[in-house]
Amino acid sequence: MPPRVGFLGLGIMGSAMANNILKAGFPLHVYNRTASKAGGLLTAGATLTPHPLALAQDAEVIIAMVTGPEALDELIWGEQGAAGAFSAEKTFINMSSVPPRYTRELAAELAPLGIAFIDAPVSGTKKPAEDGKLLILAGGDQEKIAALEPLFAAMGQKVIYCGEVGQGSVMKMTINLLLGVMMAGLAETINFGQKNGLEPETILEVILSGSLSSGLFQMKAEMVRDMAFPPNFPLKHMTKDLKFIIDTAYESGAPTPAAHAVLQLFRYGVAFQWGDEDFAAVLKILKHLNGRT
Ligand code: NAP
Repeated sequence: MPPRVGFLGLGIMGSAMANNILKAGFPLHVYNRTASKAGGLLTAGATLTPHPLALAQDAEVIIAMVTGPEALDELIWGEQGAAGAFSAEKTFINMSSVPPRYTRELAAELAPLGIAFIDAPVSGTKKPAEDGKLLILAGGDQEKIAALEPLFAAMGQKVIYCGEVGQGSVMKMTINLLLGVMMAGLAETINFGQKNGLEPETILEVILSGSLSSGLFQMKAEMVRDMAFPPNFPLKHMTKDLKFIIDTAYESGAPTPAAHAVLQLFRYGVAFQWGDEDFAAVLKILKHLNGRT
C-alpha cells in the first residue's frame, strides 16, 4: 500500500508537485492557506484538510512546499500546526527553499518528536514541476531517502543525495547562486547591447548559437523578446534566496561578490513592485535604471 501523503502549500510549485503525487496513485490530503487554490486537485481526487494539524493526523508522509521559514514555522508550530500530530511513525519532508542554518535548527527542534525529517528542496521551475522532471536535492538519512524513492519519482527525474540534513538546502542555495548570477548576466548583456544600438534578437542569436548558450537562456529567451514576465520563479523568491545565500556565505566565510551585487539589483525589482513577476524581469529593472545611474 502506498503511504498516505499530506501536502502543505499549493503555490506555483506545490500544486504541480501535488498533482503528480496524486497521478502516481498516492492517497493525497492537501492544505493551503488560501483554500481556493486546491480546486483542481480536489476535482482530481485529493482531500482538503481544514488545517495543517488535521493533515498531519491523516498522513504518514507530510510534505511542505511554501515560501520560506516564516511560512513553514506557521504551518508546523502555529495554532493547529502540523507538529501537534508529528510522531515516530511519520516522515516530514521540507521541499521549500530555506537557509541551511534554518534546516539544521528545525531538525534539532523536530528530533524530540521522533518524526523522520528529510531536507529535499528542488532544482527546476514550473514546467519541470508540471512534467515531474524536478531534480530533488536530498539531505538526511540515506536509507530513509532511498525508501521514499517512489514518492520522489512522482515529482522528479532524479534524487541527488547531498549529505546530512541541511546539505540539501546548501545545494539549493549553491545552485540558486548560479541561477541568479546567470540571469542577471543575461539581462545586463542584453540591456548593454541594446543601449548601444544592437537589436535584442541579434544579441540573443549570438548567445544562443555559441558556447555561451544554456538551458536557462533558451528558456528565458521568449520572455526577453516579449518583455513580458509571467511568473515561473517569482522575482521576490529569487531575492529571498539571494539573501539566504549571503547569510550562508557570511557564516561559512565564502566570498560572494557577485551575489551581493545581484541581490541589490533584485531588491530594486521588489521595490518597483515587480516581485510577483518572473525573475527574468531583472531585464526590466535594468531598463528602468538606464540613464539614471
Ligand atoms: P508561490 O507560488 O508563491 O507559493 C507559496 C506558497 O507558500 C503558497 O502555498 C502560499 O500560500 C504559502 N505561504 C506563504 N506564506 C505563508 C504563510 N505565512 N503561511 C502559510 N502558507 C504560506 O511559490 P512557489 O514558486 O510555489 O515556491 C515555493 C517554494 O519553492 C519557495 O521556497 C521557492 O523558493 C521554491 N522554488 C520555487 C521554484 C519556482 O520556479 N517557482 C523553483 C524551485 C524552488 P497562499 O497560496 O495562501 O499564499
